[in-house]
Amino acid sequence: MSVSERTYIMVKPDGVQRGLVGDIISRFERRGFKLIALKFVHASPEHLEKHYADLKGKPFFPGLIKYMASGPVVGMVWQGLDAVKTGRVMLGATNPLASAPGTIRGDFALAVGRNICHGSDSVDNAEKEIQLWFPEGIVQYTNDNEKWIFE
Ligand code: UDP
Ligand code: MG
Repeated sequence: MSVSERTYIMVKPDGVQRGLVGDIISRFERRGFKLIALKFVHASPEHLEKHYADLKGKPFFPGLIKYMASGPVVGMVWQGLDAVKTGRVMLGATNPLASAPGTIRGDFALAVGRNICHGSDSVDNAEKEIQLWFPEGIVQYTNDNEKWIFE
């Protein structure tokens, strides 16, 4: 856990279609995380297969790739204290029916195969996903509000 921990958060095609991009960005901004990268992209199946390589072989894998390639996504990198674990808490459980109200999936989704948003599940995977989606690198900048968020 560190103040400069980074996580990869991605609004999935259903989240874009349903107009939830602003709400999801807003939740991370208001929590105190720093936006350090953002990209609107219609990803290829090949690219998405790399992103979800760990799940290859699962029965839902072909449907997952089709869903994720069905429209543009919004990929983001958020930085801040315990960003990976806190991002997962803000996301809710993989199955929206098990997600508490107040979480992104608990507020906006019902079906596991249409669960609105992705979040990295470990610091190692976050760094891999950031490299995959932002191979060009990330712009560094100082945010003056950090002194109001951290001691
Ligand atoms: N998924 C699915 N059916 C399942 C499990 C997962 O369609 O039974 C989809 C779902 O969209 C999920 C994604 O595959 O978000 C990746 O699965 P993972 O286990 O990594 O869940 P996550 O990390 O997104 O909570
Ligand atoms: Mg996952």
